[in-house]
Amino acid sequence: MIAIDKAQVDKIIKKRNTELKRQHNRAYDKLEKLKKNNILSHKESHILRRILRGFKKFSLVTLSINEMVNLSEEIGIMPKTPKRKFAGKNSKTFLKDEILKALGYETKRGSFYPEYFSELGIKSCVYCNSQLTLSLKKEKIGTKKKYIAKFQVDHYYPKAKYPYLSIALFNLYPTCASCNNAKKDDDIQFQLYQERHEINHNLMGFELDQAQKSKFLVTRESREIEYTFFNKTCPEYDEKFHITEIYKSQKDVAEDIILKSQTYDKNLRKQLKKFENINDAHIDRIILGNYTNPNEIHKRPMAKFMQDIAREAGLKISL
Ligand SMILES: [Zn+2]
Repeated sequence: MIAIDKAQVDKIIKKRNTELKRQHNRAYDKLEKLKKNNILSHKESHILRRILRGFKKFSLVTLSINEMVNLSEEIGIMPKTPKRKFAGKNSKTFLKDEILKALGYETKRGSFYPEYFSELGIKSCVYCNSQLTLSLKKEKIGTKKKYIAKFQVDHYYPKAKYPYLSIALFNLYPTCASCNNAKKDDDIQFQLYQERHEINHNLMGFELDQAQKSKFLVTRESREIEYTFFNKTCPEYDEKFHITEIYKSQKDVAEDIILKSQTYDKNLRKQLKKFENINDAHIDRIILGNYTNPNEIHKRPMAKFMQDIAREAGLKISL
């Protein structure tokens, strides 16, 4: 919904340099081994050689956005190959599957990504901001099948077409399961990682209908509350992710915020300030019940909606 400063990713890359280098080396070695697989068709061998050539220079994990653009053009998408038997199964996507396996994308969903994205401050879906990015997946653990919570990630360059970019950090867009399904491999005009000066928090958001707000204050009926979602750069965004529909069910949240804006008492802030180690940002968060800094909307579901409604309702916190 809102871009994040790409410098934050660069900072983590610097900090975790050794570990990320190891991730690249491990994946690259596995791709090298794959090259020796004699089941590959001529077309597949050719594309794999291009991949190996490309990633001799660049990291599979930490390549920059520009490098990602260049390599995706240079290497291209996975070729369509005829169905053939592999390990007893008919496989049409052998090379793609093997590349994903070599890069360890699935394993990272349960291990590396939860930690990495928490460090980056992303816990809620970057498209709808209404749900968490974890989803349950049934997996075989030992002899039994169990549900485990895995990180859901969408790829700007879809992993079906560009599996070699499946672990590139700048290609990872944490999402909820519904948005990931809704988006599929479609292009959507939204860049999650941007330079700080390019980020505009006002291109997308929610507007509270002030006349309806007044009606609500008289009737105290939450169904009177109306708000609209807008997106100035990507008109198909709402239709794709059903934002209006999702948030239509959150009138009680808007109701709470409007009531808070009416009942806010400066003494509350004074009272809270009496506690040790509590600053204005904490107090604002307690009052809103969510993060109040526009740069922190990915830290908790609904933050964007709640910040916008609070601003429009005139809740006296710094937003
Ligand atoms: Zn979502």
